[in-house]
Formats: sequence, C-alpha cells, structure tokens
Amino acid sequence: MPGEFALIERIRARAGRRDDVVLGIGDDAAVLALPPGHELVVSCDTLVAGVHFPDDTAPADIGHKALAVNLSDLAAMAATPAWCTLALTLPEANAAWLDDFLDGFLALADEHGVSLVGGDTTRGPLSMSITVHGLVPAGQALRRDGAREGDDIWVTGTLGDAAGGLAQWRARGPASAKLRHRLDRPTPRVQAGLALRGLATAGIDLSDGLAADLGHVLAASGVGARLELGRLPSSRTLADHFDEARRWTLQLTGGDDYELCFTAPAARAFEIEQAMAAIDLPVTVVGQVEAGAGLRFGTPDGDAWTPPADGYQHFSGGHA
Ligand code: ADP
Ligand code: MG
Repeated sequence: MPGEFALIERIRARAGRRDDVVLGIGDDAAVLALPPGHELVVSCDTLVAGVHFPDDTAPADIGHKALAVNLSDLAAMAATPAWCTLALTLPEANAAWLDDFLDGFLALADEHGVSLVGGDTTRGPLSMSITVHGLVPAGQALRRDGAREGDDIWVTGTLGDAAGGLAQWRARGPASAKLRHRLDRPTPRVQAGLALRGLATAGIDLSDGLAADLGHVLAASGVGARLELGRLPSSRTLADHFDEARRWTLQLTGGDDYELCFTAPAARAFEIEQAMAAIDLPVTVVGQVEAGAGLRFGTPDGDAWTPPADGYQHFSGGHA
C-alpha cells in the first residue's frame, strides 16, 4: 500500500533487538540464533476487528491483546518467549493508529524480552497475524496429551471476567470497567507456564472457555473429567455483576480468560501451590481427571448441571 515503507520504518525504529537476533527487520527474512539443547516452540494467532475484539477497542489495547493471546500459547507450552513476527493488515496507512498500536504491542514485548523480528504490511480490513517463537529445553514442552486418571485439574487466576465484560458490552447496558479491562488487556501467564515444567502432566491456555479448552486436553489424553462448579474461581467484580448460574456459564463457555488450565498428580499439589505463591498467582483445583470420556459438572449441592445450549456464543455470533 502507499506509505507501506514509511510504516515499516516506524515499526523498525521502535522494535527491540535481542542479542540472538542475527538479522532483524529489513532483510528478506530474519536470522535467529538458537541456544544448544533447546527446541523451538512456534504458534500463530490472528485477530480480526469485530470478531476477536469489539470495533471500539483502543489501538493500544488491540496491540497488547494481539501479542498477549500469542504469548499465552507459549505459556501453555511452558516455553520462554523469544521472538515474534507481525503481519498487519490496515484499512489505510494511518501512522497515528500504528504508533498507538505499537505502544501496547511493544510494551508487552519488552516486558517478556521478546524481539519483533519481521512481518508483513498490507491494506485491507483491520486484522493482524502474529507468530511467536519460544524456547524449551529439549523434551520439556507442556503438552495436551499427558493428563492421567486421578490427576487434579487446576486453573490460574479467576475465570469469566472477560466474558462478563463482553456480555455487558453486547447488552449495551451498565458495564464494569474492570471486566472490560480483562477483555481488552489479558495477562499471558508466562511465568506460571515456566514454573509448571516438570510438575504438570498436561496444560492448555483458556481462550475459548474452560469447558471447550479442557475438552481438548481430555480428548488428547484419552480421559474424561468432573468439574466442581462451586470451586470455579471468580473475581469479586464478576460476582457483583452476575448471579451464580450466569457466572458458571460465563466461566465455562465465555472465553478470552487467557488463564492456564493444567493437570497434575495430587502428590504434586503442595509444590504447585508453592511455585504459584512464588509468582503471586492464585491457583485453584477445580476438578479431577476420570477414566470415562466426557466432561461432567457438579453443583455445590451435588446435583448434575448442563451448560445452556447458547453458551458458546462469541460476541460476533461466530466463534473462532
Ligand atoms: P518482502 O517484500 O521481502 O516481503 P517487505 O517489504 O514486506 O519485504 O518487508 C521488508 C522488511 O520489513 C522485512 O524484513 C519484513 O520482515 C519487515 N516487515 C514488514 N512489515 C512488518 C511489520 N508489520 N512488522 C515487522 N516487520 C515488518
Ligand atoms: Mg512482505
């Protein structure tokens, strides 16, 4: 697009550069030095305006979220983030918008020691694809297929805030700024992922809601599970705005939490609590892995419970 090179130059001027970047932005491709004994962990996620973030989202929040959801995938693999690329599609060559977007994007990249090493810039409806590259000591990636019968099921942080913020935005009624903040500014649990190396048997990050995402772990591991709804960790704000049944639905099917869900043998519970206390992150056991396939839900009264059929709605009506 016209002005493409001016935009790329703006990006290049601000991108940080790790020592292991042999060649960064400016050549035909980046050249990156891999430390010996490590495996490269690669993930890509796309955000489309109106689908993955509301159209009124601030550019700096979009920049933050676009990288955060990608770092969350590395966290779920217990990988240390290292590099990223940014394929950016913009409706027009808008330097002011780009500067604001980069404020959010690069602040989070800096926080995690990630260098932006390349990308692509094109014209079209607003969207961005980010590829992140992380490192793990060989054989230590945290996968989805290691959950075993009897393992505890854990989640970090609290669940449902982002979905609550989204539900309020959709309803165009009273809205909590705290809940909206959790939707716009997810925190990738990178330190938690690293701390779980050697402790967790399987892990995933929560992008589509606990029910769907835990379902992927169970399917990959060939097991099932029972979740105790009364144990789902909820923020005070979420509890102030939604009654219990609505909260369970948001927490199980709402998505956009970007917390980690992982499994571990009960014998590791104390070590896990210590490891998470060391990084100041609350962590909660929400259920147990069982032999029978499928996911079952129990209420605090001991009743069975089924999530409402419309639970899986994304704010656009679709779900990606
Ligand atoms: P090519 O035609 O070889 O793909 P480009 O003109 O697309 O080259 O890109 C020139 C350089 O700028 C490359 O190093 C590319 O990785 C980098 N680049 C382009 N767009 C972006 C972007 N949005 N973010 C980071 N780097 C970018
Ligand atoms: Mg290109």
